[in-house]
Amino acid sequence: MAIFYVIGTPIGNLEDITLRAIRIMKEVDLVLCEDTRMTRKLFDKYAIPTASMSYHAQSKLSKTDTILDMLAAGKNLALVSDAGTPGISDPGSMLVSKIRERFAPELAAGEMKIESIPGPSALTAALSIAGVPCSDFTFLGFLPHKKGRETLFKEMIASERTTVFYESPHRILKALESIAALSAEPAEKSYKDKELSPKRLTIARELTKMFEQIVSGTPAEVLAYFNAHPDKVRGEFVVIISA
Ligand code: SAM
Repeated sequence: MAIFYVIGTPIGNLEDITLRAIRIMKEVDLVLCEDTRMTRKLFDKYAIPTASMSYHAQSKLSKTDTILDMLAAGKNLALVSDAGTPGISDPGSMLVSKIRERFAPELAAGEMKIESIPGPSALTAALSIAGVPCSDFTFLGFLPHKKGRETLFKEMIASERTTVFYESPHRILKALESIAALSAEPAEKSYKDKELSPKRLTIARELTKMFEQIVSGTPAEVLAYFNAHPDKVRGEFVVIISA
C-alpha cells in the first residue's frame, strides 16, 4: 500500500522537526522538495540518506504524472516545502488534489493513504505569541501586489476578526504605510459605512531564528518603528491586524 506523506519542516530553527518527520523521511522511497538544496540542510543535520526530487509551483504536468505513476507502483513518497507546512502559501495542494482524484477508489478502500506529518507554520507560530484574539481568524496568505490590494487592507481594518497575511521584506513598508493611512481615516470615510474600531498591528519577524522579533502597537506606531529602524526591514514577516 503506497502512502503519500505531507511533512511540516522548520521555518528557521532546524531543531523544529518532529521525530516522526525524521523517521518518515528516512523510510520513504523519495522525498519531493520545493528546492532540493534547501532540504539538503535538513537531510545533512539528521543524516537522512533518502533520494530527493524537486517539485514546485513551476513543475511540469509530466512531473505530476511521474509522481502519480510512482504511487501506482506502490512507492512511498513524502512532500516537503522550503519551510513550514506544504500547501500553506507553498506548493502541495494541487498535487494532493491530483492524488485524491486519480486514486479515489484506492483511498476509499484503504489501499492507499495520504498522511499528514504536522509541523511548524509561520501562521500558527506568529499567532501563538502575538497575544491577539485568535479563536477564529482570516488568513490571506500573500496579498496581490496590485489589483485588489487596497480593498483587502480596507476589509481587514473594517473586520472584527483577526486577519493574518504573509509579506516580503520588499513590500512590508508599503503595506504598513497603507494600513496606517487607512486606519487614520475618519469614521465617515470608513469602509462600507462600518465604524472603524481602533486596530492593533502585530509584526512577527524572523520567527524561530536568531533575530526573532515581535513589534506591536497602533498601525502608526508600528510604521514609525520600522521607519526609524531600517535595519529591521529584512527577513521574513507575518502581519496580524486585530482588535
Ligand atoms: N509554508 C510556510 C508556512 O507554513 O508558514 C509559508 C511559506 S511562504 C512561501 C513564506 C512566507 O512565510 C514568508 O514570506 C513569510 O511571510 C512567512 N514566513 C516563513 N518563515 C517565517 C519566519 N521564520 N518568520 C516569519 N515569517 C515567516
